[in-house]
Amino acid sequence: MSATDAAPAIDPSATALAAVAQPDGVECAFSLELSQDQRDIRDWVHGFAADVVRPAAHEWDEREETPWPIIQEAAKIGLYGFEGLAQFFSDPTGLTLPLVNEELFWGDAGIGMSIMGTALAVAAIFGQGSGEQIGEWIPRCFGTPEDLKLAAFCASEPNAGSDVAGVRTSAKFDAAAGEWVLNGQKAWATNGGISDVHVVIASVDRELGSKGHAAFVVPMSEAKGFSQGSKVSKHGLRASHTAEVFLDDCRIPLDYLLGGKQKLDERLARVREGSKAGTQAAMATFESSRPTVGAQALGIARAAYEYALEYSKEREQFGRKIIENQSIAFTLARMKLEIDAARLLVWRASWMGRTGVRFENAEGSMSKLKAGEVAVWATERAIQILGGNGYTREFPVERWHRDAKIYDIFEGTAEIQQLVIARAISGMHIA
Ligand SMILES: Cc1cc2nc3c(=O)[nH]c(=O)nc-3n(C[C@H](O)[C@H](O)[C@H](O)COP(=O)(O)OP(=O)(O)OC[C@H]3O[C@@H](n4cnc5c(N)ncnc54)[C@H](O)[C@@H]3O)c2cc1C
Repeated sequence: MSATDAAPAIDPSATALAAVAQPDGVECAFSLELSQDQRDIRDWVHGFAADVVRPAAHEWDEREETPWPIIQEAAKIGLYGFEGLAQFFSDPTGLTLPLVNEELFWGDAGIGMSIMGTALAVAAIFGQGSGEQIGEWIPRCFGTPEDLKLAAFCASEPNAGSDVAGVRTSAKFDAAAGEWVLNGQKAWATNGGISDVHVVIASVDRELGSKGHAAFVVPMSEAKGFSQGSKVSKHGLRASHTAEVFLDDCRIPLDYLLGGKQKLDERLARVREGSKAGTQAAMATFESSRPTVGAQALGIARAAYEYALEYSKEREQFGRKIIENQSIAFTLARMKLEIDAARLLVWRASWMGRTGVRFENAEGSMSKLKAGEVAVWATERAIQILGGNGYTREFPVERWHRDAKIYDIFEGTAEIQQLVIARAISGMHIA
């Protein structure tokens, strides 16, 4: 129908009436109402975050150590473990995973990352491994509540952060021994060197840039030539372990290459012929995890907002509650608005990712960018609302602000997310 065509003849009053009188029980294609299962899981994680995680947050932030006892508690109740993650992931709407992350990180981001850090390696194995590899390695990433294990995803290097194509760690196949030999250095690996399973991104053909990358499983207990370098002392997220790792003639069996050698050889042959490459090892993992990371940032932002709201209703200056000043009340109104807006982007991207709707406009990046920026902004505003108290370690908002900043940096910096969105909407190569 063109713009000049007359509208089809309809009786507007009858249409409006029919729309309003939709009978009960008619299924609606679009709904933001959470199911009972989703609400139950959200409330269950919230209870753990409120009763176990938040009371321990200050201590583990000060200690700058992995909170093993808290991870163990999470494992005992099924929040840390293969079955738990599989249950969260299996929700066909995709919303349970962000719900879980928002609640857990509302409790504390450092502890939250210690519990969820393993999931990045799991996502890589799940996304790129064969059925057999998934069955073998994913349970090993978690261990059991009695014999707890962690996993790490090692893509970044000292000279390859945003520019993943710059990965120098090499993987060479020793045909005589039937083994891969890995050499290189990885930087800023969450759980690096304290995990059983490390998923390492290495280059099998440097000339192909990121298209020549592959993902390998390197189990700490078996792989000689694998070691932890310095543990990084950080601004925030300090209960989460971050370290460099070294691979020095590190030998692993042939079948520790995720997806298998035949698939890799076929993909590399296609790339060399100039046809479109298949999935790039590191990018595939980041794409699928961005909305979940956005949900973590949301949890921090919400914690700060709720705390500041309560504080502003208690604190009196000039004979009235500070929230009775518009400048404070409007800031809180904007905090709530921005958090809810970010959540909608996170839920949309999570739903798209789970239901296989293509990210035409980099919706995964949008969600992570927005949630990260909201978290940094909202936590800074929360410090302002608490005044001097906000700046001290006696109150949690300064920790939340320190924690929030990482969401502008890891899993793609704010600038890189904008680059991804700009390229997606324009179809142009923007540098
Ligand atoms: C606490 C923590 C945990 C981490 N966990 C992991 C992990 O588990 N596994 C892992 O592999 N990595 C991990 N990282 C690494 C993280 O992903 C990188 O730090 C991040 O990708 C940024 O890389 P970079 O630090 O090298 O910054 P750089 O790439 O050097 O960027 C520096 C600045 O330049 C900007 N910039 C770079 N290129 C462009 C461009 N083209 N256009 C515009 N601006 C640009 C960036 O946005 C940034 O502001 C972690 C980092 C931290 C701090």
